[in-house]
Amino acid sequence: MTIHFPFQNTYSALPANFFARVAPTPVAAPRLIKLNRDLAVHLGLDPDVLESPEGAEILAGKRLPEGADPIAMAYAGHQFGQFVPQLGDGRAILLGEVIDKDGVRRDIQLKGSGPTPFSRRGDGRAALGPVLREYIVSEAMFALGIPTTRSLAAVTSGENVMRETMLPGAVLTRIAASHVRVGTFQFFAARGDTVGVRKLADHVIARHYPDVAKAERPYHALLEGVVARQADLVARWLLVGFIHGVMNTDNTSISGETIDYGPCAFMDEYNPAQVFSSIDEMGRYAYANQPRIALWNLTRLAECLLPLFSDEQDKAIEQAQLMLGEFAEKFTAAYQAGLRKKIGLFTMRDGDEALIQDLLDAMAKNTADFTLTFRRLIDAAGDPAENKVRDQFTDPAAFDEWAARWRQRLADEPQSAAERQAAMRAVNPAFIPRNHRVEAVIAAAVNNDYAPFEELLTVLSKPYDDQPEFAAYADPPLPDQRVLRTFC
Ligand code: AMP
Ligand code: MG
Ligand code: MG
Repeated sequence: MTIHFPFQNTYSALPANFFARVAPTPVAAPRLIKLNRDLAVHLGLDPDVLESPEGAEILAGKRLPEGADPIAMAYAGHQFGQFVPQLGDGRAILLGEVIDKDGVRRDIQLKGSGPTPFSRRGDGRAALGPVLREYIVSEAMFALGIPTTRSLAAVTSGENVMRETMLPGAVLTRIAASHVRVGTFQFFAARGDTVGVRKLADHVIARHYPDVAKAERPYHALLEGVVARQADLVARWLLVGFIHGVMNTDNTSISGETIDYGPCAFMDEYNPAQVFSSIDEMGRYAYANQPRIALWNLTRLAECLLPLFSDEQDKAIEQAQLMLGEFAEKFTAAYQAGLRKKIGLFTMRDGDEALIQDLLDAMAKNTADFTLTFRRLIDAAGDPAENKVRDQFTDPAAFDEWAARWRQRLADEPQSAAERQAAMRAVNPAFIPRNHRVEAVIAAAVNNDYAPFEELLTVLSKPYDDQPEFAAYADPPLPDQRVLRTFC
């Protein structure tokens, strides 16, 4: 049986130094754990075919769909600030691109499908735990409304992979607007290949920034566009308590999607310095550092684009600085607007920023749960006697003091309590993929029990609904359930 995917590949038509042609390495015994049926339909793929044994073989890299042109993409990157001139897809293979129901071109990529010429010392494989974490968190981000790569499928390979211990192997099918990263530009720039930089820029303009093509200075407008999308993206992360964990330049997408879910995590208690990633020893990628790091990564992108800006380097640098300078303003505007919505404000007033900062400071000082505090604030916005939110503060009086100022500010706006609550409900999720839940899902899955995985996915698909039958999923971890470190 041949299975046809409606591929329309463009990246594999770029010059040969953009990638390595390489097929996935077959695995022993593919078994489908999960197919995202809605997403399959959205991509123009037949979910029933993908659920067949042949479909599972495709999703495990044991069989190629018709029309695939499998490649491993070349890229470089700064890892924790250190430049590595060649990284590349060491365990991922791009099968090809399809046009989805919205008319958007999407990459279909297998992650964990075997070694490539970019594997260096790695085995090209992925373990079940990280595959499930990426599946859960990327789909949760999508449901939260945050730009992200998505997960089409997870399969087990029937083989073990060697990490600190032997673990079951798995393959994730990742869907992205594209897998072009800041590090992809760095790959060509580091080789002095301005032709390559320009070809890549033209590719991403056509693909992600079509309006930019009409601009007077398209490459400048491209940088401006990437700056704007990253500023918006990182603001959205902060507004839900998300910590990416490995914001290397090779994990920074040009399309503005969240990409590469490794040791990522949502924080429970609000703590600006929070780090979960076991490999982030210096806290470079701590929660509140993320905007600074995004700008640092964008600066690396700007450096790659300088030769396209002007032959005169001084002029090019000056122009790049102007556009990078827009990051802070754009980030702050998005972040502050998001925070105002979270506390139920419809308008902007002097003093709002201080009001919100005082809440965040009190939350940090009183170990308040980030998600629950804002969710419970919705009830308090409806009924002043409804004060369960106080319990989030070790000293509840700290909340009372703040709430008095908050109520005064709310009273300045004409909206009804019901209107305000509805608006707050749409921006303050009840359900996030809490670490202890994700870890419990992984532990069960390793023992072949996927029921917790399915249930968690169900809950997280409607993060803004109360879902009383799943109320326990909104709870922070008990002290003995706390996850302090995440691994990739
Ligand atoms: P990441 O930390 O996931 O962004 O990966 C950084 C680089 O390491 C990328 O070039 C990956 O392709 C590569 N890599 C990560 N894990 C493996 C693995 N198990 N085998 C081969 N390459 C890997
Ligand atoms: Mg990566
Ligand atoms: Mg990774």
